[in-house]
Amino acid sequence: MRIARFVHPGGVSFGAVEGEAGAPPDALTVAEFTGLPMDDEVRFTGQRWALADVRLLAPIFASKVVCVGRNYVEHAAEHGAEVPAEPLLFLKPSTSVIGPNGLIRLPADSDQVEHEAELAVVIGRVVKDVPRERAMDVIFGYTCGNDVTARDQQRTDGQWTRAKGYDSFCPIGPWIETDVDVADLRVTTTLNGEVKQDGRTSQLVHKIPTLISYITSCMTLLPGDVILTGTPAGVGPMQAGDQVVVEIERIGRLTKSVLAG
Ligand code: MG
Repeated sequence: MRIARFVHPGGVSFGAVEGEAGAPPDALTVAEFTGLPMDDEVRFTGQRWALADVRLLAPIFASKVVCVGRNYVEHAAEHGAEVPAEPLLFLKPSTSVIGPNGLIRLPADSDQVEHEAELAVVIGRVVKDVPRERAMDVIFGYTCGNDVTARDQQRTDGQWTRAKGYDSFCPIGPWIETDVDVADLRVTTTLNGEVKQDGRTSQLVHKIPTLISYITSCMTLLPGDVILTGTPAGVGPMQAGDQVVVEIERIGRLTKSVLAG
């Protein structure tokens, strides 16, 4: 199922996106349900809209976004770094999350804001100390993420909180796909129509079960928390006026406009 959160004339709802995967938005509909997507059962209201007639929001509320650095060999190499022996973790604040229709805002105090296309894992329940062999059971679904980064500040600050944490620096969406095998999916970033990043999830150095086990050995994950699994090679700067599209095969396309300030 593809689960979206959206604004319609009557308010904000969750719903299931219906129609062929990959079809244009005007060929898709969204069926409203009540309750939270992670509930054992959701209740469909019978209300349905054309996807083109609603405004998609970030598909879930994340209490935190846990990110993995240098998890593709070629991306680590483009920054002259080695792949770490254990996952390299950092956090993006919940306030950095925006949905498909939000805008990436370039902060005035950075001259180098870059895109990082990433497979985003959405957690389905409260979990701590998850063994690797049970890790896939705690996943609710997957979406596209962009780990937007002020590269100049990442270099100079000594740690990454500011470089990774500005409002709007974590676009996710367009929806959560709950039924997809993510072992080997194409992940791309297209900037103004030109492909900049082109990798596959099979290239992840530390695989998803390892990431979930490692993260939950440290912190509790809550329903809706997001793990950004790392970015392939080809990261690069975005300028005001750019259109950046993160696409993951069989999950969806996340299109963003970039704005100054
Ligand atoms: Mg990243």
